Amino acid sequence: MKKYYFALFISLLIASSCFSQIKLPFAKWWEPEGLAVFKEAYPNIKFICSYDKEVGDWLVHIFVPQENKKEPKEFSLYWCESKFLPKEELKNKDEYTKLLYKYPKQIPNPENFSKEFVAKIKENTTTENRKNGPGTPPFFFDALYDCKTRASTESHIVKVPFIDRTINVHERIKEPVQRVSKRINDLPKDTPELKKFFSTLARTDGFAWRNVRDSKSRSFHGIGLAVDVLPKGYYQKIIYWRWQKQLDPEGWMLTPISKRWCPPQEIIDIFEDEGFIWGGKWMIWDNMHFEYHPELILYNKIK
Ligand SMILES: [Zn+2]
Repeated sequence: MKKYYFALFISLLIASSCFSQIKLPFAKWWEPEGLAVFKEAYPNIKFICSYDKEVGDWLVHIFVPQENKKEPKEFSLYWCESKFLPKEELKNKDEYTKLLYKYPKQIPNPENFSKEFVAKIKENTTTENRKNGPGTPPFFFDALYDCKTRASTESHIVKVPFIDRTINVHERIKEPVQRVSKRINDLPKDTPELKKFFSTLARTDGFAWRNVRDSKSRSFHGIGLAVDVLPKGYYQKIIYWRWQKQLDPEGWMLTPISKRWCPPQEIIDIFEDEGFIWGGKWMIWDNMHFEYHPELILYNKIK
């Protein structure tokens, strides 16, 4: 018996050292580490993993519940460092970015950018490189939101009350959008910043079928997973990197944060808390833009 316990102890010791690279608190050793984030972020989706020895990667079986149907629909995609690729796309894996990446806590401050970094941003944002550079892999989102074609996408778009108007979004994010709206409406309107935000709100845009300009990636507006919040006149500030690039092709990336229009911090906090990232924290900032990425919010909370 003693021998048995000793063997068990040794195997547990080996196991714990093997799995020490697993950092996420709820990760399972028999799955790729980051998958736990997706499971937690999309609780009504079932994920089951099997290891494909031939390919040398995890095959993730994704079970998506279907409206008015008993059985969920199954999709099988390779993990590929959180890119979720079909087998035939594995050879092109460098053309896709990971779905799990660093989303900064603060707006990257151009005051701290080195010359080399500025040159890199410039290089990455040429029309040519945005067309040919790696893009967001669409396969996980196609499975989850049934958005491969315009017709299938539009069949899932619903009108949702938003602040003091309505907005078109994908039915799967109806609830988080409603929570965001309620929490924004419940904010006290007694600070000058919030008062101004509510009195100058000009447009809120959701679903619109289109691609990200000069890029292979599909716009999240084209799936109904993005929300734009635009104030009247932008407070004479700059709101979008591309508009500024047209005015100042050499120096747009150094636009001080104080010269960019930003929604009040309370608004950004509410969106993030409900699973939306804010475009104002991107290197190519889009300060009116929020998009639904609960996996990314969660990943960055625990990383
Ligand atoms: Zn947008």
